[in-house]
Amino acid sequence: MVDVAIIGGGVSGLYAAHLLKQAGVSVEVIEGQQRLGGRLHTIYTPEGHPVDLGGQWIGPQHTRALRWNQRHHIPLHRTHTAGAHLLLTPQQRKKYKGTIPRLSWLALLDLGIGLMRLRKMASRVDPAYPWHISTAEWDEVSLAAWIRRTFYTRKARETFEVGLSTVLGCEPEEVSLWHTLFYLRSAGSLEALIETEGGAQELKFSQGAITFVHSLAQDIPYRLGERVHRVEIEPTRVKLICEGGYQLSARAVFVAIPPAQTGTIQWTPPLPPLYQQLSQHMPMGSVTKIVAIYDTPFWREKGLSGHILRLHGALRLTFDTSPSAGEYGQITGFGVGKLARSLLHVSSNERTAYYEKEMEALFGAKPKWLFQKTWAEEPSIGGCYTGYFGPGGWRYFGQVLRTHLPPLYWVGTERSSTWMGYIEGAMAAAEEAVQSFLTTAHT
Ligand SMILES: Cc1cc2nc3c(=O)[nH]c(=O)nc-3n(C[C@H](O)[C@H](O)[C@H](O)COP(=O)(O)OP(=O)(O)OC[C@H]3O[C@@H](n4cnc5c(N)ncnc54)[C@H](O)[C@@H]3O)c2cc1C
Repeated sequence: MVDVAIIGGGVSGLYAAHLLKQAGVSVEVIEGQQRLGGRLHTIYTPEGHPVDLGGQWIGPQHTRALRWNQRHHIPLHRTHTAGAHLLLTPQQRKKYKGTIPRLSWLALLDLGIGLMRLRKMASRVDPAYPWHISTAEWDEVSLAAWIRRTFYTRKARETFEVGLSTVLGCEPEEVSLWHTLFYLRSAGSLEALIETEGGAQELKFSQGAITFVHSLAQDIPYRLGERVHRVEIEPTRVKLICEGGYQLSARAVFVAIPPAQTGTIQWTPPLPPLYQQLSQHMPMGSVTKIVAIYDTPFWREKGLSGHILRLHGALRLTFDTSPSAGEYGQITGFGVGKLARSLLHVSSNERTAYYEKEMEALFGAKPKWLFQKTWAEEPSIGGCYTGYFGPGGWRYFGQVLRTHLPPLYWVGTERSSTWMGYIEGAMAAAEEAVQSFLTTAHT
């Protein structure tokens, strides 16, 4: 018997384990997959170069993650941004600098007014209590409905759609306007979300996000390949039963898995009805992450940054994520939108072949290696980057998302009021739950 059993060996579960252990609480982490890290997943090219198929960046606002990195000497480097970015449409190829691409003055004005309105609305959301809805209509409509009635020009609309759907990891018609506003507020600003310099994409784990995971897992007892499928809550203990047959008893349980995954566990007695329904109301996003490796970052010689915003096709956004000295070239791309989603029906090999061609079309050269990962294929995670709410979600399930049910404590990035969906949010949620557990345990 341990004091706390933790279901899920992602950032949140491991960081919670670390904090609990520091407070003198005995812990054990149970992870369903054969690896730790969850949505952080590093693989290697045949030459041994790290490739992050999950999270890879942190930004200057990610104070917890930065502090942890500093303390554990985890190497980071700045994402390369020098050179011209490209805006690609079926008809045009335009170079630009900064965050906003070069559009016609009318489209720029349209986009600027829309962004101003979005920022103003977001300032009305309190990320600590997003279920206190100040303007009911904003929770009743999808982001797509708002886009339709806000933008007058096609270019402004398409640019906004590509940007926001890549940040949110889902289609504008799937997510509520209120959730979008919350997401902006939880990160502090739209700029913090979308910028590379000064934003969430500024710093990359030089040797892969696995270095971060390993540092979190140091000295933490864990078991791999043991998916928890049943949780029995008894008066003095909670029993976890795993698919492989492993069992563990604990005084309390930290559930560090995406909310949608809680529905795959059999709870005895059953979770209260709203908690059960939460798992049906917070789907995961659908994004395919693509990493292409080249011998050199040759685009830099042509004065290009490697950052491409494309308003059509499946591969819509790319970044130069090569090592800082440019020892080899690496482009990270994101497959979003309807076309990317239609590719979820084909085999992984066919998808790789498709993205190889896309990369060749964008950069003029076939990648030496191309890796792609569709997180919807991971049964114990179910999608990426994070869970989101559609209309009515925050209103009916927001409070439940954030309310612990001792001896059950909820962790995971989706539970955080700050940087939800990010590594920083996963750490913040762990801190909050540990605080709550320690307070409850001592009263
Ligand atoms: C492609 C991609 C790109 C991203 N980019 C970034 C980025 O650059 N920067 C950033 O900050 N964030 C990024 N993110 C998001 C970031 O990775 C996540 O927010 C964070 O890792 C979530 O951590 P977590 O611990 O909350 O959840 P998870 O990482 O999902 O961990 C949950 C764990 O629980 C396990 N589990 C589930 N069910 C069970 C069960 N029944 N029994 C046992 N174990 C179970 C899962 O296998 C998983 O390991 C990205 C994510 C993806 C996928």
